[in-house]
Amino acid sequence: LLSKRLGAIAAQVKPGCRLADIGSDHALLPAHLAQSGRIARGIAGELNKGPFEAAKRQIAAAGLGAVVEVRQGNGLDVLEPGEADTVTIAGMGGALIAEILEAGRVKGKLAGVRHLLLQPNVGEMQVRVWLRRHGWLLLGEEILEEDGKIYEILSACPADETEGGAAAEAELYRERELAGFGVLGEADWLAFGPYLMKQAEPVFLEKWRRETAKLERVARSMESSELEEARLKRLKVLEDINRLKELMACLQ
Ligand code: SAM
Repeated sequence: LLSKRLGAIAAQVKPGCRLADIGSDHALLPAHLAQSGRIARGIAGELNKGPFEAAKRQIAAAGLGAVVEVRQGNGLDVLEPGEADTVTIAGMGGALIAEILEAGRVKGKLAGVRHLLLQPNVGEMQVRVWLRRHGWLLLGEEILEEDGKIYEILSACPADETEGGAAAEAELYRERELAGFGVLGEADWLAFGPYLMKQAEPVFLEKWRRETAKLERVARSMESSELEEARLKRLKVLEDINRLKELMACLQ
């Protein structure tokens, strides 16, 4: 059985797609999707030997070798351009996800990819910034809590995709419209997520309450320092806290 987090990602995978799951660990996601007949083909990419071997065992034991291939390599290096139309990257930091996407983009590995499903554990903003910079359009965002941790799932397609281009264009306007919250600028919606901000679900508000509390602890820990550098850093943290509180006040 998949975790709630992986289940939410699986639910967003389009039926019949050719999936590459990068950083697949035990290949739980592609195994589940292949087992339920949801994907035409799956590639499980894994950098590290331990998880790579585990993924191979998992796929063999489930008798899914005809559908899911397990490959060892760094990020999107495991793909030939055009092999996959959907890429999932889950359970890593946003910086690493953006790095994997960027290295793959430069090598042409994203050719033919029409759907990205990304689940950063932290640093979601870095993923949104990468998407924005490289012509990917956010189609939706989901937020959920499991075992006390809060996760975001970002879904994106190429903005210039000809098939469905009109729909993509409409989404872009929607994004812009969502971004038009009075006091909020582009940096804010890249940090919070345009759809998540619009939906303002309790779990989203809880996530930012926790972030605020974390920053308040940081600010308190710097209170007694006499160092100029710490004083300046504390001022910056206090500014961030005020910004977050302002945002929360807008959304509640
Ligand atoms: N995607 C699974 C999930 O969401 O449950 C597994 C997440 S696990 C925490 C991250 C996996 O990514 C690890 O198995 C790690 O070895 C792998 N990984 C880290 N950097 C990678 C890279 N550059 N390319 C491929 N896999 C990578």
